Amino acid sequence: IETVPETGSTNADLLARAAQRDFDAPLLLAAESQHAGRGRAGRTWHSAPGSSLTFSLAWPFRRSLPQLVGLPLAVGVAVAETLNALGVAARLKWPNDVLLEGEKLAGILVEIAPPGEDRVTAVIGIGINLALPPELRSRIDRPAAALPSLQADRNALLAALLNALAEACVEFEAGGVAAFAARWNALHAWRGERVAVLDGARTLHQGMAAGIDDSGRLLLDTDAGRVAVLSGDVSLRRA
Ligand code: ATP
Repeated sequence: IETVPETGSTNADLLARAAQRDFDAPLLLAAESQHAGRGRAGRTWHSAPGSSLTFSLAWPFRRSLPQLVGLPLAVGVAVAETLNALGVAARLKWPNDVLLEGEKLAGILVEIAPPGEDRVTAVIGIGINLALPPELRSRIDRPAAALPSLQADRNALLAALLNALAEACVEFEAGGVAAFAARWNALHAWRGERVAVLDGARTLHQGMAAGIDDSGRLLLDTDAGRVAVLSGDVSLRRA
């Protein structure tokens, strides 16, 4: 475990260091303050010193790149179950968000370092709102949530998350995303709700969210029957 007072993005740091073979993964890097946090497809993850838990975990997998596609779902299960154990009713929104009462509490970004000879290192970035002071809330363009203050001891939370993530990575290596499908479905925020799958401004599908299958695809019951949506840069919204 390493901590730094300040950085741009813990994911960017670990990816750069992995490219230089600078460390032996697993390695967790936590930042007190992160000023260029990222989300998927160039989006931004906002944080503020003292109000956010921001860290990345680099983990080596003996799996091929395509076999890592469902990893963000497994990570979501680990994060949500850890929060649930602390009394926080976190739920999952496909593919990679952790919600509290419908609002985004945590973000997950999994990026892949250049593959080594026999392994692929995934850099798993996680940002959790411990508090949402007005200055932070004003920078976020969608409804957001923060942890109830009792649960916001950052060191204890980070330790619990690291334990759960390490366990999830070992389990994912053995069983892939299929090993997490039932647990993911038990935590699904929008099960049975009408949702739209968007690619930018374009609506790709609309239907009732029915959970994920053993490949991590989102199952939607549409007027034309059941469709399975594979993650790419698609977004999900309530319809
Ligand atoms: P989509 O919902 O379109 O699939 P996403 O939720 O997967 O997108 P990410 O790329 O994971 O988005 O995260 C970036 C987005 O999260 C930002 O565009 C912003 O809407 C939101 N966001 C950024 N910072 C925070 C924060 N601290 N708390 C809650 N939400 C945030």
